[in-house]
Amino acid sequence: MIKELHNKIQNGEVTAVQLAEQYLGMIEQKDGPEGLNAFLTVTREEALAAAAAVDAKVTNGEEIDLLAGIPYGVKDAICTKGVRTTSASKILDNYIAPYDATVIEKLNAVGAVSLGKTNMDEFAMGASTENSAYGRTKHPLDPARVPGGSSGGSAAAVAAGEVVWALGSDTGGSIRQPAAFCGCVGLKPTYGRVSRHGLIAMASSLDQIGPLTQTVEDAAIVLSRISGQDPLDATSAHSSGKPYEHYLTGDVTGKKIGVLPQEMYKNLDPRIAEHITRAAEVLQEQGAVLQEIELPHLRYALSVYYIIMPSEVSSNMARFDGIRYGMTADDGADNAPGEGIHERYQDTRRIFLGEEVKRRVMLGTYGLSAGYYDQYYNKAQKVRRLIHQDFAAAFKKVDTILMPTTPEVAFKAGAKTDDPLTMYLSDIFTVAINLAGVPALSLPVGTVQEDGVALPVGGQLIGKWFDEEGLLNIADVLERSCAETH
Ligand code: GLN
Repeated sequence: MIKELHNKIQNGEVTAVQLAEQYLGMIEQKDGPEGLNAFLTVTREEALAAAAAVDAKVTNGEEIDLLAGIPYGVKDAICTKGVRTTSASKILDNYIAPYDATVIEKLNAVGAVSLGKTNMDEFAMGASTENSAYGRTKHPLDPARVPGGSSGGSAAAVAAGEVVWALGSDTGGSIRQPAAFCGCVGLKPTYGRVSRHGLIAMASSLDQIGPLTQTVEDAAIVLSRISGQDPLDATSAHSSGKPYEHYLTGDVTGKKIGVLPQEMYKNLDPRIAEHITRAAEVLQEQGAVLQEIELPHLRYALSVYYIIMPSEVSSNMARFDGIRYGMTADDGADNAPGEGIHERYQDTRRIFLGEEVKRRVMLGTYGLSAGYYDQYYNKAQKVRRLIHQDFAAAFKKVDTILMPTTPEVAFKAGAKTDDPLTMYLSDIFTVAINLAGVPALSLPVGTVQEDGVALPVGGQLIGKWFDEEGLLNIADVLERSCAETH
């Protein structure tokens, strides 16, 4: 997809400005609060200026980058200089980021054209984009359903053709799960592969930025351009990344694919289980070797995640105090801010933070408090280590692991909003990957019929630490073979 568009721009068949206008036209037609609601801010002027700069280079006969002139969207958790950055929270309703995230600087440098900021669950906490303070994003195939979350705006925008690709962030599945629901490709890189500088932190030991795209090749192209060590992120790895698109060989002969024992699928929609089994067979037909693996501590992953994540959330959210930036208690409707500093903190947070954010801050504060720390946080860290070791043991035997991305397909809006625990269960196949830090990708492997709509099913491929090239190569073969069999 990206390569084709790139060739057209480079050959002068279409200008970058025309392309930007075309996609902005799609946003105008489909988006807005009454429509898809995938975008929170559209940056028309900036997009057209960036596109014009690319056109000037083409006119000059210069070689442009593969991403130059290609329209994309940015999850609103990522800071963009001079542009409103809310993380879909009322507490940042008036926040204009004073700097660009490292990923944005890198994309600007190659001439990528951002069309604006996409909707999400508030501070990336959620699995349906219903927790946005600016209204939910709708599923492009059925407005009554959710697009997944928290990068639901990015996934919906890509699936609806409002952008060619989009940036998301993934703490426990927020790139992969919406990609699965909307039928796109979503890649969560290895922890440390992509700089987190300028990503509004949710849970810093789990967060990673990555692309949502229409094809595996596109994901490889984007990853090549956003990865690399960054002095501004001490957790970024000492590695410059690779030109990943050059590693798609089309050959998986002899590659070992780990699959889970069937009993792991007992709480799964059987139609999804069938598609995953079929995907494994497809890879086998291409010459890969299937091998059953065990991840004995996988069943604790959700419990561990829902202790570690809120603990980190509670400390990361402390910066939203109404003093340094964002909204203050005085901006609130009830107009009676307390006098003392503590009252002002409390008022600001009470008025402007959503229910889910408050819930996690309370859970995390409790888990970290004296007397409970050893029982919850410390214990969870130990089990996290065991999960990490499970993956290390599995990757001694196999090159990649195949499993579902989600236990069910895109559900109806409102179906889980009254019961946070059922919502958390959506994350059952994704959170272990963040706890271990390995890279993983979701790609469409089939559809199931619901209410007359063919809803996408996502297959999840998990790779070894820093082996995105191996992961993308296998995903690319699976994608091509699935396209042939459908
Ligand atoms: N759905 C998960 C949660 O609610 C994942 C969120 C994320 O990856 N940002 O925590």
